[in-house]
Amino acid sequence: ARLANQIAAGEVVERPSSVVKELVENSLDAGATTIKIDIEKGGAKRIRISDNGSGIVKDELTLALSRHATSKIKDLNDLEGICSLGFRGEALASISSVARLTLTSKPAEQESAWQAIAEGRDMAVALQPAAHPNGTTIDVVDLFFNTPARRKFLRTEKTEFTHIEEVIKRIALARFDVSFILSHNQKVIKHFKSVNNKSLYAKRVAQICGQKFIEHSLEIDCQHGDLQLSGWVGLPSFARNQNDLSFSYVNGRMMRDKLINHAIRQAYSNLLPADTYPAFVLFLVLDVREVDVNVHPAKHEVRFHQGRYIHDFIYSVCHNALSENAN
Ligand code: ADP
Ligand code: MG
Repeated sequence: ARLANQIAAGEVVERPSSVVKELVENSLDAGATTIKIDIEKGGAKRIRISDNGSGIVKDELTLALSRHATSKIKDLNDLEGICSLGFRGEALASISSVARLTLTSKPAEQESAWQAIAEGRDMAVALQPAAHPNGTTIDVVDLFFNTPARRKFLRTEKTEFTHIEEVIKRIALARFDVSFILSHNQKVIKHFKSVNNKSLYAKRVAQICGQKFIEHSLEIDCQHGDLQLSGWVGLPSFARNQNDLSFSYVNGRMMRDKLINHAIRQAYSNLLPADTYPAFVLFLVLDVREVDVNVHPAKHEVRFHQGRYIHDFIYSVCHNALSENAN
């Protein structure tokens, strides 16, 4: 069992930041409103995620650690309209095959917490009582301790932590309603407090992308039929020399999608000097049945059923805003 999971882990667990992404997405799927991310030594030593979400009942702890166990889809038809971030049931099994993983959880309706540890070649799960408030903590220690080839690929502590910070920023931009506290080696590095008022969204964007970006960008909010595009596009004068400020989301899921990026780049076409890139934070919302998110295991890409139509919508909204305000 461990070997099969380690093979699958190659797809899901590339480096510490991919572990962080999977675990934080699980916390979001569980409805958490506060998520603590504690990192030690760039994640190689420890990645611990604590949330106040719905938790996992004692009888399902073992299942949660097994491959292809997901509580999020009941049958294949559900794949058509996935709303939750995870759905493959691979992350926990994969991570526990390449690290020492402890899962502690307490659903509100359960009197006390229980802890599960997967151990040994057969990944047998040991259960024991534990102390934990409502919610879940997943503690991942010694990542890649048993796959030395992959451990060798880890970069410096600083580089790995920078990747983790990037993941948290990307997620924090998608979920203004959730608090994120990111610590490295016992020190709080980022604290994004939840904001429930739309007029305060810009504050979190400034915290993540810089005050300058907010000052030099246009706020967009446009609806066309079932499509909605909102967010901020940087004025051409602010466009960066490197591609470090491009955040796009489809139904709350972060993306690096060719079609979206192309539409935005085209919207800037004549406005940007050569070798500069657009800066943007954009949220596209559409009917979940209009997108297929099952394209890539890491889920950074989507397939739109009406690609051309979506492309032109993004293009025209951004282009109109930019050309009205070009300077
Ligand atoms: P997936 O997210 O694709 O369902 P995972 O391996 O990431 O698969 O998680 C397996 C299952 O464990 C989830 O379907 C969910 O039921 C449960 N789970 C994982 N993390 C949490 C969490 N933080 N809170 C509540 N349940 C969780
Ligand atoms: Mg998951």
